[in-house]
Amino acid sequence: MEKLALFGGEPVRKQLLPYAKQEIGAADIKAVVQVLASDYITTGPAVDEFEKMFAKKVEAKYAVAVSSGTAALHAACFAAGLQPGDEVITTPITFAASANCILYLGAVPVFADIDSATYNINPTEIKKKITSKTKAIIPVHFTGQPVDMDLIHAIAHQEGVVVIEDAAHAAGARYKGRAIGGLSDMTIFSFHPVKHITTGEGGMITTNDGQLYEKLKMFRNHGITREIDKMSIISGEWYYEQHFLGYNYRMTDIQAALGLSQLSRLAEFITRRQEIVSAYNEAFKDLPPLNTPNVREDCFSSWHLYVITIDVELLGTDRRTVYDALKAENIGVNVHYLPVYHHPYYQRLGYPKGLCGMAEKYYQSCLTLPLFPAMTDLDVFDVIRGVNKVVGFFNKRC
Ligand SMILES: *Cc1c(COP(=O)(O)O)cnc(C)c1O
Repeated sequence: MEKLALFGGEPVRKQLLPYAKQEIGAADIKAVVQVLASDYITTGPAVDEFEKMFAKKVEAKYAVAVSSGTAALHAACFAAGLQPGDEVITTPITFAASANCILYLGAVPVFADIDSATYNINPTEIKKKITSKTKAIIPVHFTGQPVDMDLIHAIAHQEGVVVIEDAAHAAGARYKGRAIGGLSDMTIFSFHPVKHITTGEGGMITTNDGQLYEKLKMFRNHGITREIDKMSIISGEWYYEQHFLGYNYRMTDIQAALGLSQLSRLAEFITRRQEIVSAYNEAFKDLPPLNTPNVREDCFSSWHLYVITIDVELLGTDRRTVYDALKAENIGVNVHYLPVYHHPYYQRLGYPKGLCGMAEKYYQSCLTLPLFPAMTDLDVFDVIRGVNKVVGFFNKRC
Protein backbone atom coordinates (compact mmCIF):
# COMPACT_ATOMS: atom_id res chain seq x y z
CA MET A 1 0.00 0.00 0.00
CA GLU A 2 1.22 3.48 -0.83
CA LYS A 3 2.15 5.57 2.16
CA LEU A 4 -0.21 8.53 2.60
CA ALA A 5 1.32 11.98 2.08
CA LEU A 6 -0.26 12.83 5.44
CA PHE A 7 2.22 10.39 7.00
CA GLY A 8 5.24 11.47 4.95
CA GLY A 9 4.59 9.57 1.71
CA GLU A 10 4.77 10.92 -1.84
CA PRO A 11 1.66 13.02 -2.74
CA VAL A 12 -0.32 11.95 -5.84
CA ARG A 13 0.52 15.29 -7.47
CA LYS A 14 3.17 17.96 -7.00
CA GLN A 15 0.95 21.04 -7.12
CA LEU A 16 -2.26 21.70 -5.24
CA LEU A 17 -5.32 21.32 -7.46
CA PRO A 18 -7.87 23.93 -6.30
CA TYR A 19 -11.50 22.89 -5.71
CA ALA A 20 -12.73 25.54 -8.15
CA LYS A 21 -11.27 28.10 -10.50
CA GLN A 22 -12.35 30.50 -13.24
CA GLU A 23 -11.66 29.77 -16.90
CA ILE A 24 -10.63 32.96 -18.74
CA GLY A 25 -9.87 32.72 -22.46
CA ALA A 26 -8.42 35.02 -25.10
CA ALA A 27 -11.91 36.15 -26.19
CA ASP A 28 -12.73 37.16 -22.60
CA ILE A 29 -9.59 39.28 -22.38
CA LYS A 30 -10.27 40.91 -25.75
CA ALA A 31 -13.82 41.81 -24.69
CA VAL A 32 -12.60 43.51 -21.51
CA VAL A 33 -9.83 45.40 -23.29
CA GLN A 34 -12.35 46.69 -25.84
CA VAL A 35 -14.43 48.24 -23.07
CA LEU A 36 -11.37 49.80 -21.47
CA ALA A 37 -10.68 51.61 -24.74
CA SER A 38 -14.31 52.78 -25.11
CA ASP A 39 -16.22 55.77 -23.73
CA TYR A 40 -18.06 53.87 -20.98
CA ILE A 41 -16.33 51.89 -18.29
CA THR A 42 -19.05 51.92 -15.65
CA THR A 43 -22.71 51.01 -16.19
CA GLY A 44 -23.34 51.49 -19.92
CA PRO A 45 -24.20 49.57 -23.07
CA ALA A 46 -22.34 46.38 -22.09
CA VAL A 47 -24.44 46.08 -18.91
CA ASP A 48 -27.64 46.51 -20.95
CA GLU A 49 -26.51 43.84 -23.39
CA PHE A 50 -25.42 41.43 -20.64
CA GLU A 51 -28.80 41.81 -18.93
CA LYS A 52 -30.66 41.20 -22.19
CA MET A 53 -28.63 38.13 -23.10
CA PHE A 54 -28.70 36.71 -19.58
CA ALA A 55 -32.49 37.08 -19.30
CA LYS A 56 -32.84 35.29 -22.62
CA LYS A 57 -30.51 32.48 -21.55
CA VAL A 58 -32.39 31.77 -18.31
CA GLU A 59 -35.82 32.28 -19.91
CA ALA A 60 -36.83 35.29 -17.80
CA LYS A 61 -38.40 38.55 -18.95
CA TYR A 62 -36.05 40.93 -17.11
CA ALA A 63 -32.57 40.86 -15.62
CA VAL A 64 -30.81 43.42 -13.43
CA ALA A 65 -27.01 43.23 -13.12
CA VAL A 66 -25.46 44.17 -9.79
CA SER A 67 -22.07 44.17 -8.11
CA SER A 68 -22.31 40.73 -6.44
CA GLY A 69 -24.59 37.80 -5.73
CA THR A 70 -24.95 39.17 -2.22
CA ALA A 71 -26.09 42.56 -3.59
CA ALA A 72 -28.56 40.63 -5.76
CA LEU A 73 -29.99 38.91 -2.66
CA HIS A 74 -30.18 42.24 -0.80
CA ALA A 75 -31.97 43.88 -3.74
CA ALA A 76 -34.42 40.97 -4.07
CA CYS A 77 -35.25 41.06 -0.35
CA PHE A 78 -35.82 44.82 -0.58
CA ALA A 79 -38.01 44.51 -3.67
CA ALA A 80 -40.01 41.76 -1.93
CA GLY A 81 -40.93 44.42 0.63
CA LEU A 82 -39.44 42.72 3.69
CA GLN A 83 -40.03 44.66 6.90
CA PRO A 84 -38.41 44.36 10.33
CA GLY A 85 -39.88 41.36 12.16
CA ASP A 86 -40.95 39.50 9.01
CA GLU A 87 -39.83 35.88 8.83
CA VAL A 88 -38.10 34.34 5.82
CA ILE A 89 -37.48 30.62 5.47
CA THR A 90 -34.21 29.35 4.02
CA THR A 91 -31.82 26.41 4.23
CA PRO A 92 -28.96 26.10 6.73
CA ILE A 93 -26.74 24.37 4.11
CA THR A 94 -25.76 27.41 2.07
CA PHE A 95 -23.33 30.29 1.98
CA ALA A 96 -24.10 32.79 4.76
CA ALA A 97 -25.23 35.41 2.19
CA SER A 98 -28.54 33.53 1.64
CA ALA A 99 -29.50 34.33 5.24
CA ASN A 100 -27.57 37.58 5.76
CA CYS A 101 -29.74 39.31 3.13
CA ILE A 102 -32.77 38.67 5.36
CA LEU A 103 -31.02 40.34 8.30
CA TYR A 104 -30.11 43.38 6.13
CA LEU A 105 -33.85 44.21 6.07
CA GLY A 106 -34.28 43.61 9.80
CA ALA A 107 -36.23 40.44 9.04
CA VAL A 108 -35.70 37.08 10.73
CA PRO A 109 -34.08 34.07 9.02
CA VAL A 110 -35.91 30.82 9.83
CA PHE A 111 -34.01 27.66 8.96
CA ALA A 112 -35.84 24.62 7.56
CA ASP A 113 -33.97 21.31 7.53
CA ILE A 114 -32.61 19.64 4.39
CA ASP A 115 -33.65 16.56 2.44
CA SER A 116 -31.35 13.59 3.13
CA ALA A 117 -31.05 12.61 -0.55
CA THR A 118 -30.43 15.95 -2.30
CA TYR A 119 -29.23 18.09 0.65
CA ASN A 120 -31.62 20.76 -0.63
CA ILE A 121 -34.18 22.45 1.62
CA ASN A 122 -37.01 20.00 2.39
CA PRO A 123 -40.48 21.37 1.48
CA THR A 124 -42.08 19.33 4.30
CA GLU A 125 -39.79 21.10 6.76
CA ILE A 126 -40.69 24.48 5.20
CA LYS A 127 -44.38 23.82 5.94
CA LYS A 128 -43.56 23.19 9.59
CA LYS A 129 -41.82 26.59 9.84
CA ILE A 130 -44.58 28.72 8.27
CA THR A 131 -46.20 31.24 10.64
CA SER A 132 -48.40 34.30 10.19
CA LYS A 133 -45.15 36.33 9.99
CA THR A 134 -43.66 34.37 7.07
CA LYS A 135 -43.18 36.73 4.10
CA ALA A 136 -40.79 34.87 1.81
CA ILE A 137 -38.97 31.64 1.08
CA ILE A 138 -35.40 31.59 -0.22
CA PRO A 139 -34.68 28.10 -1.60
CA VAL A 140 -31.07 27.48 -2.67
CA HIS A 141 -30.31 25.14 -5.58
CA PHE A 142 -27.44 23.55 -3.69
CA THR A 143 -24.58 22.25 -5.90
CA GLY A 144 -26.65 23.18 -8.99
CA GLN A 145 -29.41 20.64 -8.44
CA PRO A 146 -32.81 22.38 -8.54
CA VAL A 147 -35.04 22.35 -5.48
CA ASP A 148 -38.48 20.81 -6.13
CA MET A 149 -39.99 24.15 -7.19
CA ASP A 150 -43.54 22.85 -7.76
CA LEU A 151 -43.77 21.99 -4.06
CA ILE A 152 -42.25 25.35 -3.06
CA HIS A 153 -44.67 27.27 -5.31
CA ALA A 154 -47.64 25.30 -3.93
CA ILE A 155 -46.69 26.35 -0.39
CA ALA A 156 -45.98 29.94 -1.46
CA HIS A 157 -49.30 30.19 -3.29
CA GLN A 158 -51.25 28.81 -0.35
CA GLU A 159 -49.52 31.07 2.17
CA GLY A 160 -49.23 34.15 -0.05
CA VAL A 161 -45.46 34.49 0.32
CA VAL A 162 -42.76 35.61 -2.11
CA VAL A 163 -40.24 33.13 -3.56
CA ILE A 164 -36.66 34.28 -4.18
CA GLU A 165 -34.52 31.50 -5.64
CA ASP A 166 -30.84 31.60 -4.74
CA ALA A 167 -29.41 30.19 -7.97
CA ALA A 168 -25.80 31.16 -7.25
CA HIS A 169 -24.96 27.48 -7.95
CA ALA A 170 -27.46 27.00 -10.72
CA ALA A 171 -26.77 29.08 -13.85
CA GLY A 172 -27.85 26.82 -16.71
CA ALA A 173 -29.75 24.34 -14.51
CA ARG A 174 -33.26 23.19 -15.51
CA TYR A 175 -36.30 22.06 -13.55
CA LYS A 176 -38.79 19.84 -15.40
CA GLY A 177 -37.50 21.17 -18.71
CA ARG A 178 -37.65 24.85 -17.73
CA ALA A 179 -34.61 27.04 -17.07
CA ILE A 180 -33.87 28.18 -13.54
CA GLY A 181 -34.32 31.96 -13.70
CA GLY A 182 -37.92 32.52 -14.79
CA LEU A 183 -39.84 30.26 -12.40
CA SER A 184 -40.35 32.41 -9.31
CA ASP A 185 -40.93 36.04 -8.30
CA MET A 186 -37.19 36.60 -8.40
CA THR A 187 -34.04 34.51 -8.91
CA ILE A 188 -30.50 35.57 -8.10
CA PHE A 189 -27.18 34.53 -9.62
CA SER A 190 -23.53 35.10 -8.65
CA PHE A 191 -20.55 35.69 -10.93
CA HIS A 192 -17.85 35.11 -8.33
CA PRO A 193 -14.87 33.30 -9.93
CA VAL A 194 -15.81 29.89 -8.46
CA LYS A 195 -19.30 30.04 -10.03
CA HIS A 196 -20.26 28.91 -13.56
CA ILE A 197 -19.42 32.17 -15.27
CA THR A 198 -17.53 35.07 -13.77
CA THR A 199 -17.31 38.86 -13.91
CA GLY A 200 -14.67 39.02 -11.17
CA GLU A 201 -17.38 40.02 -8.72
CA GLY A 202 -20.95 40.35 -9.89
CA GLY A 203 -24.53 39.20 -9.64
CA MET A 204 -27.90 39.25 -11.39
CA ILE A 205 -31.55 39.25 -10.40
CA THR A 206 -34.08 37.89 -12.89
CA THR A 207 -37.83 38.37 -12.75
CA ASN A 208 -40.92 38.33 -14.98
CA ASP A 209 -42.54 41.15 -13.00
CA GLY A 210 -42.22 44.68 -14.42
CA GLN A 211 -42.77 46.41 -11.08
CA LEU A 212 -40.14 44.34 -9.31
CA TYR A 213 -37.80 45.06 -12.23
CA GLU A 214 -38.19 48.85 -11.81
CA LYS A 215 -37.64 48.61 -8.05
CA LEU A 216 -34.52 46.47 -8.46
CA LYS A 217 -33.02 48.89 -10.98
CA MET A 218 -33.55 51.84 -8.66
CA PHE A 219 -32.25 49.93 -5.63
CA ARG A 220 -28.86 49.35 -7.27
CA ASN A 221 -28.55 53.08 -7.91
CA HIS A 222 -29.37 54.76 -4.54
CA GLY A 223 -33.14 54.56 -5.12
CA ILE A 224 -32.75 57.24 -7.79
CA THR A 225 -34.89 57.64 -10.89
CA ARG A 226 -34.46 59.81 -13.99
CA GLU A 227 -37.63 58.63 -15.67
CA ILE A 228 -40.00 61.54 -16.19
CA ASP A 229 -43.19 59.59 -15.56
CA LYS A 230 -41.91 58.53 -12.14
CA MET A 231 -40.90 61.98 -10.90
CA SER A 232 -42.95 64.23 -8.63
CA ILE A 233 -42.05 67.45 -10.50
CA ILE A 234 -40.33 68.21 -13.77
CA SER A 235 -37.79 70.98 -13.63
CA GLY A 236 -35.16 70.29 -16.26
CA GLU A 237 -32.85 67.83 -17.93
CA TRP A 238 -30.37 67.78 -15.02
CA TYR A 239 -33.06 66.71 -12.59
CA TYR A 240 -33.38 63.33 -10.85
CA GLU A 241 -35.11 62.16 -7.70
CA GLN A 242 -34.32 59.69 -4.95
CA HIS A 243 -37.47 57.86 -3.90
CA PHE A 244 -36.12 55.39 -1.35
CA LEU A 245 -32.84 54.44 0.33
CA GLY A 246 -30.87 52.39 -2.18
CA TYR A 247 -27.19 51.59 -2.61
CA ASN A 248 -24.46 51.77 -5.18
CA TYR A 249 -24.67 48.14 -6.32
CA ARG A 250 -23.95 48.90 -9.98
CA MET A 251 -22.02 46.57 -12.25
CA THR A 252 -19.38 48.11 -14.52
CA ASP A 253 -19.20 47.67 -18.29
CA ILE A 254 -15.77 46.12 -17.77
CA GLN A 255 -17.42 43.34 -15.76
CA ALA A 256 -20.41 43.04 -18.08
CA ALA A 257 -18.15 42.59 -21.13
CA LEU A 258 -16.46 39.69 -19.36
CA GLY A 259 -19.86 38.32 -18.34
CA LEU A 260 -21.18 38.46 -21.90
CA SER A 261 -18.15 36.67 -23.24
CA GLN A 262 -18.37 34.05 -20.48
CA LEU A 263 -22.10 33.60 -21.00
CA SER A 264 -21.50 32.42 -24.57
CA ARG A 265 -19.50 29.52 -23.11
CA LEU A 266 -21.91 28.53 -20.32
CA ALA A 267 -23.18 25.39 -22.10
CA GLU A 268 -19.63 24.30 -22.92
CA PHE A 269 -18.59 24.82 -19.28
CA ILE A 270 -21.50 22.72 -18.00
CA THR A 271 -20.76 19.92 -20.48
CA ARG A 272 -17.19 19.71 -19.20
CA ARG A 273 -18.44 19.70 -15.61
CA GLN A 274 -20.79 16.82 -16.48
CA GLU A 275 -17.94 14.82 -18.03
CA ILE A 276 -15.91 15.15 -14.85
CA VAL A 277 -18.93 14.22 -12.72
CA SER A 278 -19.48 11.06 -14.81
CA ALA A 279 -15.84 10.06 -14.34
CA TYR A 280 -16.14 10.56 -10.56
CA ASN A 281 -19.44 8.69 -10.34
CA GLU A 282 -18.00 5.75 -12.26
CA ALA A 283 -14.78 5.69 -10.20
CA PHE A 284 -16.49 5.90 -6.80
CA LYS A 285 -19.54 3.70 -7.32
CA ASP A 286 -17.85 0.69 -5.71
CA LEU A 287 -16.30 2.55 -2.79
CA PRO A 288 -18.90 1.83 -0.10
CA PRO A 289 -17.78 4.38 2.48
CA LEU A 290 -18.53 7.12 -0.07
CA ASN A 291 -21.96 8.24 -1.22
CA THR A 292 -21.90 9.88 -4.63
CA PRO A 293 -24.49 12.63 -5.34
CA ASN A 294 -28.14 11.70 -5.94
CA VAL A 295 -29.66 13.38 -8.96
CA ARG A 296 -33.39 13.85 -9.42
CA GLU A 297 -34.76 12.38 -12.66
CA ASP A 298 -36.74 15.48 -13.63
CA CYS A 299 -33.87 17.93 -13.16
CA PHE A 300 -30.81 19.03 -15.05
CA SER A 301 -28.08 19.95 -12.60
CA SER A 302 -25.55 22.56 -13.62
CA TRP A 303 -23.00 20.86 -11.33
CA HIS A 304 -21.45 23.73 -9.43
CA LEU A 305 -20.11 21.35 -6.76
CA TYR A 306 -19.41 17.64 -6.54
CA VAL A 307 -20.17 16.70 -2.93
CA ILE A 308 -19.64 13.22 -1.52
CA THR A 309 -20.70 12.13 1.92
CA ILE A 310 -18.54 9.71 3.87
CA ASP A 311 -19.91 6.88 5.98
CA VAL A 312 -17.51 7.59 8.82
CA GLU A 313 -18.55 4.48 10.79
CA LEU A 314 -17.78 2.25 7.83
CA LEU A 315 -14.52 4.01 7.01
CA GLY A 316 -13.40 4.07 10.64
CA THR A 317 -12.14 7.64 10.50
CA ASP A 318 -13.69 11.08 10.51
CA ARG A 319 -14.19 13.65 7.75
CA ARG A 320 -11.46 15.87 9.17
CA THR A 321 -8.85 13.13 8.65
CA VAL A 322 -10.04 12.37 5.12
CA TYR A 323 -9.94 16.09 4.33
CA ASP A 324 -6.41 16.49 5.75
CA ALA A 325 -5.19 13.34 3.97
CA LEU A 326 -6.51 14.49 0.58
CA LYS A 327 -5.13 18.00 1.07
CA ALA A 328 -1.73 16.44 1.82
CA GLU A 329 -2.03 14.58 -1.51
CA ASN A 330 -2.47 18.06 -3.09
CA ILE A 331 -6.14 17.47 -3.87
CA GLY A 332 -7.95 20.73 -2.98
CA VAL A 333 -11.00 19.43 -1.19
CA ASN A 334 -13.44 21.72 0.59
CA VAL A 335 -16.50 21.61 2.86
CA HIS A 336 -19.88 23.11 1.86
CA TYR A 337 -21.23 24.25 4.25
CA LEU A 338 -21.16 24.80 7.97
CA PRO A 339 -24.87 25.15 8.86
CA VAL A 340 -25.34 28.93 8.72
CA TYR A 341 -26.73 29.16 12.27
CA HIS A 342 -23.51 27.58 13.65
CA HIS A 343 -21.55 30.73 12.78
CA PRO A 344 -20.71 32.66 15.96
CA TYR A 345 -22.71 35.66 14.73
CA TYR A 346 -25.86 33.54 14.38
CA GLN A 347 -25.12 31.79 17.67
CA ARG A 348 -25.16 35.22 19.32
CA LEU A 349 -28.55 35.85 17.74
CA GLY A 350 -29.77 32.84 19.71
CA TYR A 351 -30.19 30.00 17.18
CA PRO A 352 -29.71 26.76 19.12
CA LYS A 353 -27.39 24.00 17.91
CA GLY A 354 -29.41 20.92 16.97
CA LEU A 355 -32.00 23.10 15.19
CA CYS A 356 -31.77 21.12 11.92
CA GLY A 357 -30.70 17.54 12.65
CA MET A 358 -30.28 16.39 9.05
CA ALA A 359 -28.15 19.43 8.14
CA GLU A 360 -25.88 18.84 11.13
CA LYS A 361 -25.47 15.15 10.31
CA TYR A 362 -24.71 16.06 6.69
CA TYR A 363 -22.12 18.60 7.82
CA GLN A 364 -20.21 15.91 9.73
CA SER A 365 -19.76 13.77 6.62
CA CYS A 366 -19.65 16.02 3.53
CA LEU A 367 -16.64 16.67 1.36
CA THR A 368 -16.40 18.66 -1.90
CA LEU A 369 -14.03 17.35 -4.57
CA PRO A 370 -12.42 19.64 -7.19
CA LEU A 371 -14.75 20.44 -10.10
CA PHE A 372 -14.21 23.16 -12.69
CA PRO A 373 -14.19 23.22 -16.50
CA ALA A 374 -10.48 23.96 -16.87
CA MET A 375 -9.56 20.66 -15.14
CA THR A 376 -7.59 18.39 -17.47
CA ASP A 377 -8.21 14.64 -17.72
CA LEU A 378 -4.97 14.21 -15.79
CA ASP A 379 -6.31 16.44 -12.98
CA VAL A 380 -9.46 14.29 -12.85
CA PHE A 381 -7.34 11.15 -12.74
CA ASP A 382 -5.27 12.61 -9.88
CA VAL A 383 -8.42 13.24 -7.83
CA ILE A 384 -9.62 9.68 -8.43
CA ARG A 385 -6.19 8.25 -7.53
CA GLY A 386 -6.02 10.43 -4.42
CA VAL A 387 -9.47 9.42 -3.20
CA ASN A 388 -8.77 5.73 -3.87
CA LYS A 389 -5.45 5.96 -2.07
CA VAL A 390 -6.89 7.65 1.03
CA VAL A 391 -10.11 5.61 1.25
CA GLY A 392 -8.14 2.41 0.47
CA PHE A 393 -5.76 3.13 3.30
CA PHE A 394 -8.45 3.61 5.95
CA ASN A 395 -10.61 0.79 4.56
CA LYS A 396 -7.83 -1.78 4.86
CA ARG A 397 -6.76 -0.66 8.28
CA CYS A 398 -10.05 -1.67 9.90
C1 LIG B 1 -21.63 32.59 -3.95
C2 LIG B 1 -22.93 32.53 -3.27
C3 LIG B 1 -23.65 33.68 -2.91
C4 LIG B 1 -23.06 35.07 -2.92
O1 LIG B 1 -22.53 35.48 -4.10
P1 LIG B 1 -21.38 36.59 -4.14
O2 LIG B 1 -21.32 36.94 -5.60
O3 LIG B 1 -20.13 35.94 -3.64
O4 LIG B 1 -21.79 37.72 -3.30
C5 LIG B 1 -24.93 33.54 -2.41
N1 LIG B 1 -25.47 32.32 -2.24
C6 LIG B 1 -24.81 31.20 -2.55
C7 LIG B 1 -25.48 29.88 -2.35
C8 LIG B 1 -23.52 31.26 -3.06
O5 LIG B 1 -22.85 30.14 -3.33
